[in-house]
Amino acid sequence: MAKPGDLVEIVTKNKKYVGILMPKPEIIKSNTIVIKLDSGYNIGIEKKKIKKIKVIKKAKKGKKKNIKIKQSKKLPTVSILSTGGTISSKVDYKTGGTYASLTAEDFIQLEPKILKFANIRAKQIEQIMSEDMTPEHWIKIAKEVYKELNKKEVSGVVITHGTDTMHYTAAMLSFMFPKLSKPIVLVGAQRSTDRGSSDTFMNLICSVIAATQKIGEVMVCMHATTNDDFCYLHRGTKVRKMHTSRRDAFRSINQMPIAKIWPDGRIKFLINYKKPDKTNELNIKINKKVALIYVYPGINQNIIDYYLNKGYKGIVIAGTGLGHVPTYLIQKIKKAVKKGVAVCITSQCFYGRTHSFVYSNLRRLSQTGAIFCEDMLPEVAYVKLMHVLGKTKKLEKIKELMQKNIAGEINPIISKDMFLV
Ligand code: ASP
Repeated sequence: MAKPGDLVEIVTKNKKYVGILMPKPEIIKSNTIVIKLDSGYNIGIEKKKIKKIKVIKKAKKGKKKNIKIKQSKKLPTVSILSTGGTISSKVDYKTGGTYASLTAEDFIQLEPKILKFANIRAKQIEQIMSEDMTPEHWIKIAKEVYKELNKKEVSGVVITHGTDTMHYTAAMLSFMFPKLSKPIVLVGAQRSTDRGSSDTFMNLICSVIAATQKIGEVMVCMHATTNDDFCYLHRGTKVRKMHTSRRDAFRSINQMPIAKIWPDGRIKFLINYKKPDKTNELNIKINKKVALIYVYPGINQNIIDYYLNKGYKGIVIAGTGLGHVPTYLIQKIKKAVKKGVAVCITSQCFYGRTHSFVYSNLRRLSQTGAIFCEDMLPEVAYVKLMHVLGKTKKLEKIKELMQKNIAGEINPIISKDMFLV
């Protein structure tokens, strides 16, 4: 008899399905059987259509092996801080969904090969899906990372994180650590660990390898291709999740990745990176009263007033094309700037640079005092503005800092080969 968790083959009149048998979720009628396909999707099959159910593989019993964690004097030490997300998720056979359940130590049990490259310390600092991250979480993560960085024996820090907002956290940490003596590497997974196609294992190995390098930057390490061949190491301020489900969803934008990393330990650097500083400096002073607005045809002009009335101090606009907003918004932006609110312009194209004078509307927008943010990604400008507003309230100074390259977020020279890498 097939039990929930078993890999089964279900034969109907016209089709065969292979997947993991899920317990019947309450919302589904009892005359239906639900299986999880390898693609990750659940499907329900009406019982009366089923001709045969064959168990291909019984579900593993959930006992953990007790792996002895050997310490090697020859190896560097990497701290893994886990925060949740799919990389920490298992299928919940009760609901058929995934839930976050793995602690950092479990990662070692999951992929013991990481011990070939480093001694591992592990700490679970959070257990949430990254869509629930807030600026408060960024501060908490930064403080925990700082503690690890200051431990003499630690060579680098890996943060396991949900993928949805991993690029926000990476960018914020890039600004929160103006000085960094060791690498900080964020890693996630697009497919949960109990799926055959999970990217957890290779991503984890490559991120540990990255954390043993002499690099003074915050980075993201994820699958580079749809195969299990190598990972890319991306600059934390130049990376974005560009696909909902592909394992190679993370791409460097307006920049080449820093390096290619193979799970056997090889690493090939593709661009210059920041060398480690002698010390670590943490600056967690941010102003959270910043909004990110995506403009679109027909956007309600009162959106700007809404944020002004709520006391917001900064607004980042993801404009169209070169940084355009509908003409009727320009007056509203002028009003916001007059009130001392910093309005920053980025582009929802992501690739390329904003421009403040190619068209007359851009010139008008620029004359309001809106700050054009070069080739900065909207999400990066959003966290950077929080950081900058934590330092100053003066619009002139805000403009100077927003247009200054602080953590690799502005690339003065974008070459052709940086498009769709
Ligand atoms: N929604 C999940 C998260 O960001 C997705 C993932 O981790 O891949 O936490």
